[in-house]
Amino acid sequence: MGQIGIEKETLKMMIRENVKTLYRKNLETASAEEIYQAAVFSLRDLITDKWIKTHDTYSEKNAKIVYYLSMEFLMGRFLGNALINMGMNTVIKEVFAELGIDYNTVEEAEPDPGLGNGGLGRLAACFLDSLSTLELPAYGCGIRYHYGIFEQKVENGYQVEAPDNWLEDGDPWGIRRNEYAVEIKFGGHVRAMLKENGGYRFVQEGYQSVMAIPYDYPVVGYGNNTVNTLRLWDARAKNRIDLKYFNEGNYQKAAEEETLAKTLTDVLYPADEHYQGKELRLRQQFFFISATVQRVVARFKENHGDFNLLPEKVAFQLNDTHPSIAVAELMRVLVDENDLPWDQAWEITQKVCAYTNHTIMSEALEKWPLDLFSRLLPRIYQIVEEINRRFCLELTEKYGNNPEKIRRLAIIADGQIRMAYMAIVGSHSVNGVAALHTEILKNQELKDFYKLYPEKFNNKTNGITQRRWLLHANPQLAELITEKIGDGWITDLAQLEKILPYVEDEEFQKRFMEIKRANKVALAKYIKSAKGIDINPDSIFDIQVKRLHEYKRQLLNVLHIIGLYNKLKMNPGLDMVPRTYIFGAKAAAGYRRAKLIIKLINSVGDVVNNDESICGKIKVVFLENYRVSLAERLIPAADVSEQISTAGKEASGTGNMKFMLNGALTVGTMDGANVEIFDEVGEENIFIFGMSAEEVQEKYNGEYDPWSVYNMNQEVRMAMTALIDGTFSNDTCLFRELYDALLNGFGGSKADEYFVLEDYADYQRAQMAVDYAYRDKERWARMAIYNTAKSGKFSSDRTIKEYAKEIWSLPSVPIEF
Ligand SMILES: *Cc1c(COP(=O)(O)O)cnc(C)c1O
Repeated sequence: MGQIGIEKETLKMMIRENVKTLYRKNLETASAEEIYQAAVFSLRDLITDKWIKTHDTYSEKNAKIVYYLSMEFLMGRFLGNALINMGMNTVIKEVFAELGIDYNTVEEAEPDPGLGNGGLGRLAACFLDSLSTLELPAYGCGIRYHYGIFEQKVENGYQVEAPDNWLEDGDPWGIRRNEYAVEIKFGGHVRAMLKENGGYRFVQEGYQSVMAIPYDYPVVGYGNNTVNTLRLWDARAKNRIDLKYFNEGNYQKAAEEETLAKTLTDVLYPADEHYQGKELRLRQQFFFISATVQRVVARFKENHGDFNLLPEKVAFQLNDTHPSIAVAELMRVLVDENDLPWDQAWEITQKVCAYTNHTIMSEALEKWPLDLFSRLLPRIYQIVEEINRRFCLELTEKYGNNPEKIRRLAIIADGQIRMAYMAIVGSHSVNGVAALHTEILKNQELKDFYKLYPEKFNNKTNGITQRRWLLHANPQLAELITEKIGDGWITDLAQLEKILPYVEDEEFQKRFMEIKRANKVALAKYIKSAKGIDINPDSIFDIQVKRLHEYKRQLLNVLHIIGLYNKLKMNPGLDMVPRTYIFGAKAAAGYRRAKLIIKLINSVGDVVNNDESICGKIKVVFLENYRVSLAERLIPAADVSEQISTAGKEASGTGNMKFMLNGALTVGTMDGANVEIFDEVGEENIFIFGMSAEEVQEKYNGEYDPWSVYNMNQEVRMAMTALIDGTFSNDTCLFRELYDALLNGFGGSKADEYFVLEDYADYQRAQMAVDYAYRDKERWARMAIYNTAKSGKFSSDRTIKEYAKEIWSLPSVPIEF
């Protein structure tokens, strides 16, 4: 079952043959990249039959399908994961060993496609893995960016961005589907034409168009026959520049369309949790949404005459507001292209669409200026206006003539379209991504909408796939667990609780910690080769990896390291467990302060790592180009997981879950899913510190003067002073901005907006508790095992089951093969 039956010899032959046909080489002379490509071609053949069967079955059974609409899919490398899910992981290693080729080198030769910024894109990838594993009919729909998130380099301590040309050596997983190309229209104007039966038909004229071409990527389920599809849309000019247009005087237009198609899918916007009202971004959004909606409706019409059935056959899940234009585009297709009356179309649209909110940070909320929106999407704009008009009428009926309230809730206000509000009004479900986050949505950020539509609101705590984040990333630990409790956990993570009886088992503790140490040794070796820094595998590996954001408070972590360094300088004999602080983080290219924090981390590292007087008690390492493949290397080697956001700001976090699964202990605030991790493991197995979300809110509304912390806390004072006294840079002005941002406010922001100084003392206390706990090897092992054992809740399988049951009403469809 699920295994793809294939002889090793056949596989060897296929790889050998593919190297020959593709590169005119034999295995002995081919590079790792070439062998990788040849291996993919061999495996793709094996996947294809199941892939075809999956889609035939969906058609035959007329199954309901969910379309997960997302601007980002941060998939990570395909090969290793696909092999694991195909049950070929062991076979392939044997095959390569017998061929005399190092399998790891081949896996490492695959580019790590960065078609996402961070957590949101990675969530979409984990969801696809779970959907296939749970045999749920699904498509992921997004954009085939030619350049993903930039490759980060560090030069002289500063982040430098380089393009990520992931398609350079070809795209062996993607299959181009010309037959499903659709036309996407931008700009022009709308003409109302009288229909024969009265009423108007609205026609867009004078537009520019591009063709959307889908590329399909297989998403292999674990241990079953399901292969779902990730469909990424690419753009191509409809009208190539040619003499015909030139002669018609249309050269200009043809050239414009060609340029539009070229730029449309070129790059992913590298800003995470930050919205810029860029026209190209809106074009990208409409491009992949219009393509998806048109294709979905066309497919529906092949089998059905009655549009009232659409919600029984199709679900759209909107991953944040980026795809929320789907609400208006579905209305356009139903009303304009299929002659449905508005009310009927609206009911269908609401039943089809569901919206996931990912953030309450105001700078991340998408609002499009009316002039830009109406110029780019004239017909969609009219539809949004009509949606808004009817919604405001509904509000008036409910609340009477209350202009203030209507202005607060309207989809269009202050010359802008608020995409989140359109998504809420046009969906039957609005979900947050962790319990605390959903409560904040209901009681604060979206309070008015919650009162209006309480039935729409629900929580779906995020999750991660254990196939990538344990089975693939940490094979030794996976094996130990399987040896003890069997392999049921791979598709049912709650079964990890079966290792609870081993928490007290000395032998198990020993093996668990030996694996952790082996992972640490491997990471130390990598760090030595990548950065030339020697780190001690017996030190505590304390890791903070995630996007660089002020709210995630990497600055709190560094400031505390500076505080510790100061203490060591004053007292080199300080009794502490040696600690290695490891960071990884990309900053949005235009986010100056985030980039300065990266420079600070590197500068602190330069000083601390080279100061012999502290006898190697602390090391600070910044690993460049944090991405999925680096995460897979780091997380299994972590002792401590830093999840220290300002409470109330991190919607969920998923990094926190990956660390927990791999037996790292969390140092964290009561924020996002940390709260639920705390609930699972209990206060004795986690290091919680800092203000609660409520306390943060109170402080924010009340008086907060960071100077009072500065004056009262000598350690804080000394750490702050080190920012500006030349300790970490000869240029004493270099880090002045960070100093000022914390104490005085800077560049329009409040002083210490994220309460770094306010939470410092308690963070320091929590870190002392970590040091203390680690000295007791047995206690630490118990805590680490306990964390792994209790991480079952955080499987994306659990999350997806909840979406399928409570939002999509989506039955599974097993594939017979
Ligand atoms: C999991 C993951 C994230 C999200 O991490 P958070 O700590 O939840 O912000 C970001 N980037 C990569 C590469 C990841 O794997």
